[in-house]
Amino acid sequence: MVLEITQIGNPVLREVCREVSADELASSEMQQFIDDLIETKRAANGAGIAAPQVGRALRIFVVEVKDNPRYPYKPEAELTVCVNPEIEFLTEERYLNYEGCLSIPDLRGKVPRCPHIRVRALDRSGQSFERVVKGITAGTFQHEYDHIEGVLFPDRSDPKTFCTWSEFALRHEDQVRRDVETVVEKWGE
Ligand code: ZN
Repeated sequence: MVLEITQIGNPVLREVCREVSADELASSEMQQFIDDLIETKRAANGAGIAAPQVGRALRIFVVEVKDNPRYPYKPEAELTVCVNPEIEFLTEERYLNYEGCLSIPDLRGKVPRCPHIRVRALDRSGQSFERVVKGITAGTFQHEYDHIEGVLFPDRSDPKTFCTWSEFALRHEDQVRRDVETVVEKWGE
């Protein structure tokens, strides 16, 4: 079922989300919720989505990039469900990622992101996994992780970089494609 996406101003987007217990995760209700989260992300063409974006303050997010019309220049990223995740930065380096958010209509802005991270989380079956994520995809994971901490991308952006999606397409997208290529060349994702 496609769920309604919460919009900036809704206090659930500012909550520090709570962990999901093993029993809760195994329940059919929570498994259905994860299916719905994935379906909602796909229907909205998001690169990722986090539980508070559909109104639940739980530490769950999903990342997946495949033939994405919202972010045609982003490298593909396989479907990953992260429950109770932790992110460790593996480099001091940062790059500027031009981000948008399903919960913030018609706004984009540049956010400094770490291009080399380690993600530790439970998958939807409750198995723990660990993955090193790099480059642009690492930025997507950090954006989703921020959601479960109640942080939205404009909190981390220089407001002078804010633009609408049409201004982005008109004035910034060509440069961003080149910037993304540089990040991908260096980090491989
Ligand atoms: Zn977002």
